[in-house]
Amino acid sequence: MLNADLHCHSTVSDGTLTPEALAGRAKANGVELWALTDHDEIGGQARALQAAQALGMRYLTGTEISVTFAGQTVHIVGLGFDHLDSTLAEGLRRTRGGRGERAQEMSDGLAKVGIHGAYEGALKYVGNPELISRTHFARFLVEAGVCKDTPEVFRKYLTEGKPGFVPHRWARLQDAVQWISGAGGVAVIAHPARYSFTPNEEYALITEFVAHGGRGIEVVTGSHSSQEAQRYAQTAQEFGLVASRGSDFHSPDESHTDLGALPWLPGQLTPVWELLADRIQ
Ligand code: AMP
Ligand code: MN
Ligand code: MN
Ligand code: MN
Repeated sequence: MLNADLHCHSTVSDGTLTPEALAGRAKANGVELWALTDHDEIGGQARALQAAQALGMRYLTGTEISVTFAGQTVHIVGLGFDHLDSTLAEGLRRTRGGRGERAQEMSDGLAKVGIHGAYEGALKYVGNPELISRTHFARFLVEAGVCKDTPEVFRKYLTEGKPGFVPHRWARLQDAVQWISGAGGVAVIAHPARYSFTPNEEYALITEFVAHGGRGIEVVTGSHSSQEAQRYAQTAQEFGLVASRGSDFHSPDESHTDLGALPWLPGQLTPVWELLADRIQ
Protein backbone atom coordinates (compact mmCIF):
# COMPACT_ATOMS: atom_id res chain seq x y z
CA MET A 1 0.00 0.00 0.00
CA LEU A 2 1.13 3.52 -0.82
CA ASN A 3 0.98 6.11 1.96
CA ALA A 4 -0.83 8.78 -0.06
CA ASP A 5 -2.25 11.90 1.61
CA LEU A 6 -4.21 13.87 -0.98
CA HIS A 7 -6.05 16.46 1.12
CA CYS A 8 -4.62 19.19 3.38
CA HIS A 9 -4.50 22.97 3.81
CA SER A 10 -1.71 25.55 4.11
CA THR A 11 -1.54 29.25 5.00
CA VAL A 12 -2.58 29.87 1.37
CA SER A 13 -6.10 28.96 2.57
CA ASP A 14 -7.13 28.08 6.15
CA GLY A 15 -4.23 25.95 7.36
CA THR A 16 -1.67 27.25 9.85
CA LEU A 17 1.48 25.76 8.25
CA THR A 18 3.24 26.98 5.11
CA PRO A 19 3.39 24.65 2.08
CA GLU A 20 7.07 23.97 2.93
CA ALA A 21 6.32 23.12 6.58
CA LEU A 22 3.48 20.81 5.49
CA ALA A 23 5.78 19.04 3.03
CA GLY A 24 8.32 18.48 5.81
CA ARG A 25 5.67 17.17 8.17
CA ALA A 26 4.20 14.87 5.51
CA LYS A 27 7.65 13.46 4.72
CA ALA A 28 8.45 12.95 8.42
CA ASN A 29 5.16 11.09 8.84
CA GLY A 30 5.99 8.68 6.01
CA VAL A 31 3.84 10.17 3.24
CA GLU A 32 4.99 8.86 -0.16
CA LEU A 33 2.54 10.70 -2.42
CA TRP A 34 1.26 14.09 -1.36
CA ALA A 35 -1.14 16.81 -2.59
CA LEU A 36 -1.75 20.26 -1.10
CA THR A 37 -5.45 21.08 -1.62
CA ASP A 38 -6.08 24.66 -0.51
CA HIS A 39 -9.68 25.88 -0.65
CA ASP A 40 -10.50 27.59 -3.99
CA GLU A 41 -6.83 28.39 -4.49
CA ILE A 42 -3.78 27.01 -6.31
CA GLY A 43 -1.35 29.77 -5.31
CA GLY A 44 0.65 27.34 -3.16
CA GLN A 45 1.14 24.66 -5.83
CA ALA A 46 4.55 25.68 -7.15
CA ARG A 47 5.94 25.94 -3.60
CA ALA A 48 4.41 22.61 -2.55
CA LEU A 49 5.78 20.83 -5.63
CA GLN A 50 9.25 22.28 -5.13
CA ALA A 51 9.28 21.37 -1.43
CA ALA A 52 8.05 17.83 -2.15
CA GLN A 53 10.68 17.30 -4.84
CA ALA A 54 13.46 18.59 -2.57
CA LEU A 55 12.40 15.92 -0.04
CA GLY A 56 12.11 13.13 -2.62
CA MET A 57 8.34 12.88 -2.10
CA ARG A 58 6.03 12.33 -5.07
CA TYR A 59 3.47 15.08 -5.68
CA LEU A 60 0.07 15.62 -7.33
CA THR A 61 -1.32 19.14 -7.77
CA GLY A 62 -4.45 19.78 -5.74
CA THR A 63 -7.26 22.12 -4.73
CA GLU A 64 -10.61 21.86 -2.91
CA ILE A 65 -13.40 23.78 -4.64
CA SER A 66 -16.45 25.09 -2.76
CA VAL A 67 -19.65 24.22 -4.63
CA THR A 68 -23.32 24.87 -3.88
CA PHE A 69 -25.53 21.86 -4.58
CA ALA A 70 -29.16 21.47 -3.46
CA GLY A 71 -28.75 24.34 -1.00
CA GLN A 72 -25.67 22.91 0.71
CA THR A 73 -21.94 23.51 0.39
CA VAL A 74 -20.15 20.54 -1.14
CA HIS A 75 -16.38 20.32 -1.53
CA ILE A 76 -14.84 18.94 -4.71
CA VAL A 77 -11.17 18.04 -4.55
CA GLY A 78 -9.23 18.34 -7.81
CA LEU A 79 -6.04 16.33 -8.27
CA GLY A 80 -3.34 16.10 -10.92
CA PHE A 81 -4.40 19.10 -13.04
CA ASP A 82 -2.13 21.50 -14.89
CA HIS A 83 -1.84 24.30 -12.33
CA LEU A 84 -1.10 26.82 -15.09
CA ASP A 85 -4.47 26.18 -16.81
CA SER A 86 -6.14 29.58 -17.24
CA THR A 87 -9.78 28.40 -17.16
CA LEU A 88 -9.22 26.67 -13.83
CA ALA A 89 -7.36 29.71 -12.44
CA GLU A 90 -10.15 32.07 -13.52
CA GLY A 91 -12.86 29.79 -12.11
CA LEU A 92 -11.10 29.65 -8.76
CA ARG A 93 -10.61 33.41 -8.75
CA ARG A 94 -14.36 33.89 -9.27
CA THR A 95 -15.13 31.34 -6.55
CA ARG A 96 -12.92 33.25 -4.09
CA GLY A 97 -14.62 36.53 -4.98
CA GLY A 98 -17.30 37.43 -2.47
CA ARG A 99 -15.44 35.98 0.52
CA GLY A 100 -14.50 39.49 1.71
CA GLU A 101 -18.07 40.76 1.64
CA ARG A 102 -19.35 37.57 3.24
CA ALA A 103 -16.80 38.02 6.03
CA GLN A 104 -18.03 41.58 6.68
CA GLU A 105 -21.59 40.25 6.94
CA MET A 106 -20.47 37.45 9.27
CA SER A 107 -18.83 40.09 11.45
CA ASP A 108 -22.05 42.16 11.47
CA GLY A 109 -24.01 39.08 12.55
CA LEU A 110 -21.58 38.40 15.39
CA ALA A 111 -21.69 42.07 16.49
CA LYS A 112 -25.46 41.71 16.95
CA VAL A 113 -24.83 39.11 19.66
CA GLY A 114 -22.17 41.24 21.34
CA ILE A 115 -19.01 39.93 19.66
CA HIS A 116 -17.27 43.01 18.27
CA GLY A 117 -14.29 43.37 15.95
CA ALA A 118 -14.54 39.85 14.54
CA TYR A 119 -13.63 40.89 10.98
CA GLU A 120 -10.43 42.60 12.09
CA GLY A 121 -9.77 39.76 14.53
CA ALA A 122 -10.17 37.09 11.85
CA LEU A 123 -7.93 39.05 9.47
CA LYS A 124 -4.99 38.60 11.85
CA TYR A 125 -5.12 34.87 11.11
CA VAL A 126 -5.47 35.19 7.34
CA GLY A 127 -2.46 34.19 5.23
CA ASN A 128 -4.07 35.06 1.88
CA PRO A 129 -6.22 38.22 1.72
CA GLU A 130 -8.47 36.59 -0.92
CA LEU A 131 -9.20 33.66 1.31
CA ILE A 132 -10.80 34.77 4.54
CA SER A 133 -12.80 31.77 5.79
CA ARG A 134 -14.94 30.68 8.70
CA THR A 135 -11.88 28.94 10.11
CA HIS A 136 -10.16 32.32 10.63
CA PHE A 137 -13.20 33.64 12.51
CA ALA A 138 -13.19 30.46 14.62
CA ARG A 139 -9.54 31.02 15.58
CA PHE A 140 -10.29 34.61 16.62
CA LEU A 141 -13.31 33.59 18.73
CA VAL A 142 -11.16 31.05 20.57
CA GLU A 143 -8.45 33.69 21.10
CA ALA A 144 -11.10 36.13 22.40
CA GLY A 145 -12.24 33.52 24.93
CA VAL A 146 -15.75 33.26 23.46
CA CYS A 147 -15.36 29.48 22.97
CA LYS A 148 -12.88 26.85 24.12
CA ASP A 149 -12.09 25.41 20.66
CA THR A 150 -12.97 25.80 17.00
CA PRO A 151 -15.59 22.99 16.81
CA GLU A 152 -17.49 24.83 19.58
CA VAL A 153 -17.32 28.08 17.57
CA PHE A 154 -18.77 26.33 14.52
CA ARG A 155 -21.52 24.73 16.60
CA LYS A 156 -22.56 27.94 18.34
CA TYR A 157 -21.78 30.69 15.82
CA LEU A 158 -20.79 29.67 12.31
CA THR A 159 -23.26 27.07 11.04
CA GLU A 160 -26.70 27.44 9.47
CA GLY A 161 -29.07 29.45 11.66
CA LYS A 162 -26.31 30.72 13.97
CA PRO A 163 -25.44 34.46 14.30
CA GLY A 164 -22.20 34.41 12.28
CA PHE A 165 -23.51 32.26 9.44
CA VAL A 166 -24.06 33.95 6.09
CA PRO A 167 -25.57 31.86 3.27
CA HIS A 168 -23.28 31.99 0.27
CA ARG A 169 -23.50 30.88 -3.35
CA TRP A 170 -20.33 29.03 -4.38
CA ALA A 171 -19.41 27.50 -7.76
CA ARG A 172 -21.76 25.20 -9.70
CA LEU A 173 -20.96 21.49 -9.49
CA GLN A 174 -20.64 21.12 -13.24
CA ASP A 175 -18.25 24.08 -13.47
CA ALA A 176 -15.95 22.84 -10.72
CA VAL A 177 -15.80 19.36 -12.24
CA GLN A 178 -15.17 20.76 -15.72
CA TRP A 179 -12.44 23.17 -14.58
CA ILE A 180 -10.58 20.25 -13.01
CA SER A 181 -11.11 17.76 -15.86
CA GLY A 182 -10.42 20.41 -18.50
CA ALA A 183 -7.02 20.98 -16.89
CA GLY A 184 -6.21 17.26 -17.11
CA GLY A 185 -7.07 16.42 -13.49
CA VAL A 186 -9.50 14.15 -11.69
CA ALA A 187 -12.44 15.52 -9.64
CA VAL A 188 -13.20 13.84 -6.31
CA ILE A 189 -16.16 14.35 -3.93
CA ALA A 190 -14.57 15.36 -0.60
CA HIS A 191 -15.63 13.90 2.79
CA PRO A 192 -19.04 12.63 1.54
CA ALA A 193 -20.23 11.71 5.04
CA ARG A 194 -20.04 15.34 6.17
CA TYR A 195 -23.07 16.58 4.21
CA SER A 196 -26.63 16.34 5.43
CA PHE A 197 -28.32 15.27 2.21
CA THR A 198 -31.32 13.01 2.04
CA PRO A 199 -30.64 9.72 0.22
CA ASN A 200 -32.28 11.15 -2.91
CA GLU A 201 -30.18 14.31 -2.79
CA GLU A 202 -27.00 12.30 -2.30
CA TYR A 203 -27.94 10.09 -5.25
CA ALA A 204 -28.52 13.22 -7.35
CA LEU A 205 -25.16 14.67 -6.25
CA ILE A 206 -23.23 11.57 -7.27
CA THR A 207 -25.07 10.94 -10.55
CA GLU A 208 -24.73 14.58 -11.63
CA PHE A 209 -21.08 14.57 -10.58
CA VAL A 210 -20.45 11.49 -12.74
CA ALA A 211 -22.48 12.93 -15.65
CA HIS A 212 -20.24 16.01 -15.65
CA GLY A 213 -17.07 13.91 -15.68
CA GLY A 214 -16.34 13.42 -11.96
CA ARG A 215 -14.39 10.21 -11.33
CA GLY A 216 -13.55 9.89 -7.63
CA ILE A 217 -14.78 9.96 -4.04
CA GLU A 218 -12.90 10.32 -0.74
CA VAL A 219 -13.37 7.12 1.16
CA VAL A 220 -10.69 7.48 3.83
CA THR A 221 -10.45 11.01 5.25
CA GLY A 222 -9.77 12.62 8.62
CA SER A 223 -13.42 13.14 9.47
CA HIS A 224 -14.73 9.68 8.45
CA SER A 225 -15.35 6.95 11.00
CA SER A 226 -14.50 3.41 9.89
CA GLN A 227 -18.23 2.80 9.32
CA GLU A 228 -18.43 5.89 7.11
CA ALA A 229 -15.36 4.73 5.16
CA GLN A 230 -17.00 1.34 4.63
CA ARG A 231 -20.22 2.94 3.53
CA TYR A 232 -18.50 5.12 0.91
CA ALA A 233 -16.28 2.24 -0.21
CA GLN A 234 -19.54 0.59 -1.20
CA THR A 235 -20.75 3.81 -2.86
CA ALA A 236 -17.50 3.97 -4.87
CA GLN A 237 -18.09 0.45 -6.15
CA GLU A 238 -21.77 1.07 -6.93
CA PHE A 239 -21.02 4.16 -8.99
CA GLY A 240 -17.73 2.98 -10.49
CA LEU A 241 -15.72 5.73 -8.79
CA VAL A 242 -12.05 5.60 -7.85
CA ALA A 243 -11.20 6.16 -4.19
CA SER A 244 -9.12 8.88 -2.55
CA ARG A 245 -7.38 9.12 0.82
CA GLY A 246 -6.51 12.37 2.60
CA SER A 247 -6.24 13.66 6.15
CA ASP A 248 -7.77 17.14 5.58
CA PHE A 249 -5.02 18.34 7.92
CA HIS A 250 -5.27 22.07 8.84
CA SER A 251 -3.13 22.61 11.93
CA PRO A 252 -1.14 20.68 14.56
CA ASP A 253 -3.36 22.32 17.20
CA GLU A 254 -6.73 21.66 15.56
CA SER A 255 -6.58 18.55 13.39
CA HIS A 256 -7.16 15.23 15.06
CA THR A 257 -5.75 13.35 12.05
CA ASP A 258 -2.14 14.07 11.21
CA LEU A 259 -0.70 14.01 7.69
CA GLY A 260 -0.36 10.42 6.47
CA ALA A 261 -1.78 8.94 9.69
CA LEU A 262 -4.88 7.37 8.13
CA PRO A 263 -6.32 3.90 7.66
CA TRP A 264 -5.53 2.27 4.31
CA LEU A 265 -8.02 2.33 1.46
CA PRO A 266 -10.10 -0.86 1.38
CA GLY A 267 -8.31 -3.31 -0.94
CA GLN A 268 -11.14 -3.84 -3.41
CA LEU A 269 -11.12 -0.17 -4.53
CA THR A 270 -9.15 1.47 -7.33
CA PRO A 271 -7.04 4.29 -5.83
CA VAL A 272 -7.36 7.66 -7.56
CA TRP A 273 -3.59 7.75 -8.15
CA GLU A 274 -3.90 4.84 -10.58
CA LEU A 275 -5.81 7.18 -12.90
CA LEU A 276 -3.16 9.83 -12.39
CA ALA A 277 0.04 7.81 -12.88
CA ASP A 278 1.26 10.15 -15.64
CA ARG A 279 0.43 13.30 -13.61
CA ILE A 280 2.60 12.43 -10.60
CA GLN A 281 5.60 14.75 -10.35
P1 AMP B 1 -15.65 28.43 4.56
O1 AMP B 1 -15.05 27.92 3.28
O2 AMP B 1 -15.24 29.83 4.88
O3 AMP B 1 -17.14 28.23 4.63
O4 AMP B 1 -15.02 27.55 5.75
C1 AMP B 1 -15.11 26.16 5.71
C2 AMP B 1 -14.02 25.56 6.60
O5 AMP B 1 -14.41 25.63 7.95
C3 AMP B 1 -13.82 24.07 6.36
O6 AMP B 1 -12.94 23.85 5.30
C4 AMP B 1 -13.22 23.62 7.66
O7 AMP B 1 -11.84 23.92 7.67
C5 AMP B 1 -13.89 24.51 8.68
N1 AMP B 1 -15.03 23.85 9.34
C6 AMP B 1 -16.26 23.63 8.84
N2 AMP B 1 -17.06 23.04 9.75
C7 AMP B 1 -16.31 22.89 10.86
C8 AMP B 1 -16.54 22.35 12.18
N3 AMP B 1 -17.75 21.86 12.52
N4 AMP B 1 -15.52 22.38 13.07
C9 AMP B 1 -14.32 22.89 12.74
N5 AMP B 1 -14.04 23.40 11.53
C10 AMP B 1 -15.00 23.40 10.60
MN1 MN C 1 -10.80 24.20 5.75
MN1 MN D 1 -13.78 20.31 2.98
MN1 MN E 1 -10.36 20.33 3.29
